Amino acid sequence: MGRRQELDGRKAVIATALAMSRSGLSPGRSGNVSCRVGGGMLITPSGMAYEDLEPEDIVRVALDGSVPGKQRKPSSEWHFHLAAYRARANIGALVHAHSLHATVLACARKSIPAFHYMVAVAGGNDIPLVPYATFGTDALARLVADGLKDRNACLMANHGQIAVGETLPAALELAHEVEVLAEQYVKVLALGPPHLLSDDEMNVVLEKFKGYGQRGQSSA
Ligand code: 13P
Ligand code: ZN
Repeated sequence: MGRRQELDGRKAVIATALAMSRSGLSPGRSGNVSCRVGGGMLITPSGMAYEDLEPEDIVRVALDGSVPGKQRKPSSEWHFHLAAYRARANIGALVHAHSLHATVLACARKSIPAFHYMVAVAGGNDIPLVPYATFGTDALARLVADGLKDRNACLMANHGQIAVGETLPAALELAHEVEVLAEQYVKVLALGPPHLLSDDEMNVVLEKFKGYGQRGQSSA
């Protein structure tokens, strides 16, 4: 990868992390952001304030998990970022956030079922909950890789949420969508048992999503 491309990647990771932080999606220094690059990934450094990030603070991690040369310490969650890229060839970016309502559900150990048709935005009929493992461990990475096997988002017990996409903006947009759905679901639960959509109906929705919006429209 050329130097220019690498610099653009670093700036894009910072822009996404700043957008995540400034929108209030993930409080303080929580959360992390990465994108895939040839031979590995670019990821936010561990424990640094997002407002202070410069391109050289973003860490390049090789596919085997090594950090070449003298760099900042990568996000403590580099294991699950790398595991996601290894498990899914079609994803190019990952956003992890401790967004309020997704975290509330994750702490109550609740996944998000098909209470609203928009749950299909994550690629299936629910947004799954990954069992608890200590942050920054390989054990958590294995659980996350499994949770993202056929979904583009998941909750992590007693922790937060993860969203993936082909691009950084797509992953960030999905993380916001997951938070909106989580907030709605928390409020629905407060009213009593939710009425869930059937798998058959969700299959109809998932099929419809394939042609939703401008998808399939040839560009002018
Ligand atoms: P890092 O600053 O190491 O990325 O940790 C933040 C976090 O959310 C850990 O799960
Ligand atoms: Zn976290």
